[in-house]
Amino acid sequence: MSEINVKIGENQRSFPAPVSVAEALKSVDRDLVKKSLAAKVNGEDVDLSYTLDNSDEIISIEPILPETTDGLEVIRHSAAHLLAAAVLDLFPGTKLGVGPALMDDARYGYYYDVIAPRTLTETDLPVIEKKMREIAKRNLAYRREVLDKQDLVKLFTDRDEPLKCELVNEKASDTATAYHIDNTSFVDFCLGPHVPNTNKLKAFKLLALSGAYWKGDANNQQMQRIYGTAFATQEELDAWLKQREEAERRDHRRIGKELDLFSISDDYGPGLILWHPKGAAIRMEMENLLKEELQRRGYSFVFTPHIAKRQLWRISGHEENYADGMYAPTSIEDEEYRLKPMNCPFHIGIYKASPKSYRDLPQRYSELGTVYRAELSGAIHGLMRCRGFTVDDAHLFVRPDQIREEIADCLDFAIKVFETYGFDRVRFELSVRGAAENKGYLGANEDWENAETALANALKEREISYERIEGEAAFYGPKIDIKIEDAIGRIWQLGTIQLDFNLPERFELEYTGEDGQRHRPVMIHRALFGSVERFFGVLIEHYAGAFPFWLAPIQITVLPITDRINDYAESVASELKQSGLRVEMNLKSDKIGAKIRDAQINKIPFMLVLGDKELEDKTIAVRERKQGDLGVMRLDEFKDMAKRLKETRAIANG
Ligand SMILES: [Zn+2]
Ligand SMILES: [Zn+2]
Repeated sequence: MSEINVKIGENQRSFPAPVSVAEALKSVDRDLVKKSLAAKVNGEDVDLSYTLDNSDEIISIEPILPETTDGLEVIRHSAAHLLAAAVLDLFPGTKLGVGPALMDDARYGYYYDVIAPRTLTETDLPVIEKKMREIAKRNLAYRREVLDKQDLVKLFTDRDEPLKCELVNEKASDTATAYHIDNTSFVDFCLGPHVPNTNKLKAFKLLALSGAYWKGDANNQQMQRIYGTAFATQEELDAWLKQREEAERRDHRRIGKELDLFSISDDYGPGLILWHPKGAAIRMEMENLLKEELQRRGYSFVFTPHIAKRQLWRISGHEENYADGMYAPTSIEDEEYRLKPMNCPFHIGIYKASPKSYRDLPQRYSELGTVYRAELSGAIHGLMRCRGFTVDDAHLFVRPDQIREEIADCLDFAIKVFETYGFDRVRFELSVRGAAENKGYLGANEDWENAETALANALKEREISYERIEGEAAFYGPKIDIKIEDAIGRIWQLGTIQLDFNLPERFELEYTGEDGQRHRPVMIHRALFGSVERFFGVLIEHYAGAFPFWLAPIQITVLPITDRINDYAESVASELKQSGLRVEMNLKSDKIGAKIRDAQINKIPFMLVLGDKELEDKTIAVRERKQGDLGVMRLDEFKDMAKRLKETRAIANG
């Protein structure tokens, strides 16, 4: 009898052939096999029931546990099968399409495409989910069966599953694997692996129903797609559902509409943003903060056009490397022009306009530069991904010995700005070259070493903890990515500080050194938000529409209790406006309760309630949107507080 040598972690065992993966695991640790969902055998994912046969080599077995990403994928994939089994049980005659696990989708964990004998509706989802639970509790086995391709085609033909037949014909080699859930009528053409039995699936939920086409092609049969998700534990599922609900409540597209901040209309085109007065008021404040900081830190402001000759984009390399993201050229007097996808070449033009010496560096140009990118309609998403957007752009032209200091200031700048918005968890990632050092990286090895060291030193000097990522640098230079964590723990990738050895070369940028020789400056692309639109979207969701006082489009609303008070209300409003505050009045004949409710819905930070008493005493009764009644104040007292909140850009109205 032949022997199989198996290595599981530190343990090495021998078994008489054949032996199942589960048995091999059990010999090392009984608990381990109970916890495992599947396993990797020599790196390949297999079921626990997989049989190991003769081999001269030592076979390595690694259990796939529920708390790992691989484990979660096995759970979700198996849950998709469970879903199909439940649909078949409830609606015999249903034709099945495909049902994959979704691992990178924020909204769903898996789906199955079906054509049921009747159209399914949302009300069917709880019924199907209940059936899934029933099947899960019966603890039925996921059984693998290896068949000849022709036998599997026959199996699906007999079951009247034409779509599955089509898939087997297209994808199977001579033999193929079918998976059953025992004691149900479900069988699938699938490679696996799956959980060993249905009661391993403990936390799943169906989430949505949508239309779909077979193979995603509108010329094919129309199907229905049932979406669900699954997790290893009920706690994880509950936490995820809670965050999903919270994210929906904060959706910037919904809040943007409710608060009248911006709109996107098909009449103008997808991905093109119309900033309404209230959204624009917030944007002005965002820009003011930026401009103040830029000025303090020695940046110069520049303005550049939205189009340039096609030849410029050839020199910059955009024609060659970025053509898909650019709009088609347009002709003006036989010369071709293109809309700008980036601002960089324009700032280079400003640098090149006059000769530079080492004393002139660094040059720091900043611009809120609007760019246009040909995003596919499927990729566009509210403010988060648009076809036209404004970059809080800056380009720094520096000597190599200035890199560290300039980067350190960019880091300070980023931290200061994000702290002002109330993001106290900012993350930094340093992307450097990979192990294969000459893998198409542009520029001299020495320049790279200096630059990578300068970036790392700038981070260390500021005592910023960061993650170093090998091999993620662009071919033209290392970079630091900036990410923030929002109020509900989501991570947003925003700005980048990117070193560039490429464009100075392409545009032959120079400065005269102390030695009288010509040298090439290093270019730093620097944006904190990346896109003003996207950052605005993040802010809407972070604050759930309740902007801090300094950002709020309407900061104060004046609410007279009766018409008799209107004149007094107007004098109060006018005095506050004189102080540069954004004030509105509600002179409608509504009851005061309705006026307060309206102000709450519009998330206005302060409500000034004025009645006969206030008119007589020349005072105001102040309400704050979260704290409620703050009592009676003198107007100058309130005005001082409001001005302080505005000037300090306070996060809370306390
Ligand atoms: Zn499967
Ligand atoms: Zn740039």
